[in-house]
Amino acid sequence: MIPMVDLTAQYDDGLRAEIERGWSEALDQTRFIMGPNVEALESEIADYLGVRHAISCASGTDALELALVAAGVGPGDEVITSPFTFIATAEAICHVGATPVFVDIDPVTFNIDLALAEAAITPRTRAILPVHLFGQPIDATACQALSCHHGLMMIEDCAQSFGARWQGGQTGSFGIAGCFSFFPSKNLGGYGDGGLISTNCPDHAERLRMLRNHGSRERYYHDLLGYNSRLDEIQAIVLRAKLRRIDGYNAGRQAVAAAYADGLGGLPGITVPSVIDGAEHVYHQYTVLIDPAVAGCDRDAVMRALAAAGSASAVYYPVPLHQQTVFAGSHGTQRLPVTETAAAQCLSLPMYPELPQADQQRVIAAVRDCLR
Ligand SMILES: *Cc1c(COP(=O)(O)O)cnc(C)c1O
Repeated sequence: MIPMVDLTAQYDDGLRAEIERGWSEALDQTRFIMGPNVEALESEIADYLGVRHAISCASGTDALELALVAAGVGPGDEVITSPFTFIATAEAICHVGATPVFVDIDPVTFNIDLALAEAAITPRTRAILPVHLFGQPIDATACQALSCHHGLMMIEDCAQSFGARWQGGQTGSFGIAGCFSFFPSKNLGGYGDGGLISTNCPDHAERLRMLRNHGSRERYYHDLLGYNSRLDEIQAIVLRAKLRRIDGYNAGRQAVAAAYADGLGGLPGITVPSVIDGAEHVYHQYTVLIDPAVAGCDRDAVMRALAAAGSASAVYYPVPLHQQTVFAGSHGTQRLPVTETAAAQCLSLPMYPELPQADQQRVIAAVRDCLR
């Protein structure tokens, strides 16, 4: 079976030996939480992203929540965000007591439509929280300009976009904060949970360093109401080894995407990802739309055909956030047509840097066979 992701394929080029060496040293040193590898990882990621500060934490979800708290977002505030994302984006907004305001997405990028975001601004809006979904950056210059013009903070959800660039700048370097996830299947993934916040603002960085560690600067002196949200050495060792290889991994994803586009682009009823001018897409997911009226078959038929050909496929995401039960009371009657169509038609194909060419062709052939 061709899986969506195969993490064992990365062990081949010495990665596993490098990690095992690092882990063995960590076992001797026993500084398991926020030790030397965590410190080194933070400065290496800050360099990579071209930002002044990188503060690690326990997950991407925590990165979002900590960034919101550090920015002073709380009860009574509204945060404009995407309905077409993983639940964590909106969960974080709710956990700090603020209200997520969902605006419809752009049909090409799946990222929020900035004209609709602007129209949704009210006197209560404090922040805009775009998601660089599937690894395609939003137009970050336009988003910055919008935030600046209306006095909003821009907080980027970069959980799927490590290494993606907008006009040469890394995602996570445009807003007051960029929130990353190191969940194993993400572009830069650990072997457990982990996250990180990037920022150029020294005050924000200082608050984040305190917040992730029980609100303290000095042990047993607590100035803020904080959290236990720290990264451990075991993860930092994995992440440092993979960070050295991240551009190669992302290039591998781009090559798979190019093969898919070659094999599937232009066929009736299927829309393959297109990259907007100025963006570098890192294909956390390769997500197509299947329009049943034109394709002659629906998404489920394509999924069945892929399964019969020995390939996985997945739907990210089947239910938009404004229609999730948890939000039904507050957003149940809202209509977001582009998002709802995307949720009904989207299909993600197997995607990882080492996906063999023969498997790519098997996926392409199975999808082609379904379409008219
Ligand atoms: C994975 C993900 C998160 C949450 O990250 P965790 O590390 O799993 O907590 C948040 N937002 C998006 C868009 C994600 O894909």
